[in-house]
Amino acid sequence: MNFDIAIIGAGNAGLSLARNLFRDQTKKKIVVIEPELPENKAANWCTWMHKDNLSIFKNSIKGSWDDWAVSNKTQKIIHTSSSYKYVCINASMYLSQIENELNNSNIHIIRDAVVEISKKNNRKEIICKNNIVSASHVYDSRPPKLNAGLLRQHFYGIEFELTEAHHIDSVILMDFDVDQYNGLHFIYALPFSERKLFVESTVISKELNQVEWYEDQIKLWMKNKNLDYLKKISSEKGVISQGKIEYKNEGIHCIGARGGAVRMSSGYAFHNIQSQVGELANNIRNECYDVPVTMNKFVTFMDEIFNKVLINNPQIAVDLFLNTTKSLSADEFARFMINRTSFNIWSKVIAQMPKKPFIEQILKSIKRG
Ligand SMILES: Cc1cc2nc3c(=O)[nH]c(=O)nc-3n(C[C@H](O)[C@H](O)[C@H](O)COP(=O)(O)OP(=O)(O)OC[C@H]3O[C@@H](n4cnc5c(N)ncnc54)[C@H](O)[C@@H]3O)c2cc1C
Repeated sequence: MNFDIAIIGAGNAGLSLARNLFRDQTKKKIVVIEPELPENKAANWCTWMHKDNLSIFKNSIKGSWDDWAVSNKTQKIIHTSSSYKYVCINASMYLSQIENELNNSNIHIIRDAVVEISKKNNRKEIICKNNIVSASHVYDSRPPKLNAGLLRQHFYGIEFELTEAHHIDSVILMDFDVDQYNGLHFIYALPFSERKLFVESTVISKELNQVEWYEDQIKLWMKNKNLDYLKKISSEKGVISQGKIEYKNEGIHCIGARGGAVRMSSGYAFHNIQSQVGELANNIRNECYDVPVTMNKFVTFMDEIFNKVLINNPQIAVDLFLNTTKSLSADEFARFMINRTSFNIWSKVIAQMPKKPFIEQILKSIKRG
């Protein structure tokens, strides 16, 4: 089977790229290779979106909110925005919809798992479990390997149907009023409706925990908030690298998380992936096949510094998050999170960094080159 373009992985990046190419009415022969069905993808992908842009995703939005909160035992900062919404996209709805849109198009989906990619003359040969595919250009979005020993954000979340209505009126982005012995730990909660609540325990550390550990933390947090549940509706778990992802494989382009689209300091990727594949589709229309740089060098440098200051000074981590949130308006916070940061926003964020460790870390990083 010969194609112009092969996209490996029909997740966020792979299918969003395919859809952009389809909507561009490309004449190229394209294949997407993915082992799993979209309806089996259990994930809530959340991000901030400007209210004017919501309609693009309207059929896969599971929830959207004007308010979000960051708190610990003694303080709670609530942001309310009239321009940005915190939006939750249901992964399986989003991906199923794109696959439906691609039906009867010149973009083929092969339900198979890629095993190996090799170069053959000017083309790439993609060996799958049951097929062999040849393509001129390959975009690989298989999840990157996450090495032990690197800082990772790991989480487990459950959507509950509660016995009674809760009184949580904003998204809980980070509630640090939980066990902090296993790394920087917070509870994240999405109030989908009066009685439907998604609660996730997230840890930033090098070592992962057993599922039971996160589950106990979720239950303890709910007990402290007097929340009881009738049943568990669904669950999701994940691990996201907070370190740099770099794949060097000659001639094979990486996109999505594998292509460095995850923001190192926050783990958010949705917005970056959409920008990356949007620009890439434009490039392809003009016969340029390189993946655009999603994260500029300054953001990467600052995120690395931020993470290192956190690892080396865990005692200040919670205050750092709270103070940074407090120093920004809701709109500035949203723009910071989706990588639309101005000099003014950066200066406010930097002003919250503890001076001595921050300057020491910058000097170390510059010295290391
Ligand atoms: C549970 C979870 C929740 C997340 N929540 C958020 C969030 O709220 N906000 C946010 O911004 N980011 C979030 N992220 C991070 C990031 O946005 C997502 O990981 C996003 O899906 C990354 O898109 P991607 O296309 O790079 O990878 P994926 O969407 O993971 O797609 C990769 C695809 O490759 C396929 N694949 C794997 N192996 C093979 C193979 N051998 N051959 C072919 N295909 C293969 C997979 O089945 C998958 O479909 C979350 C991540 C996880 C894991």
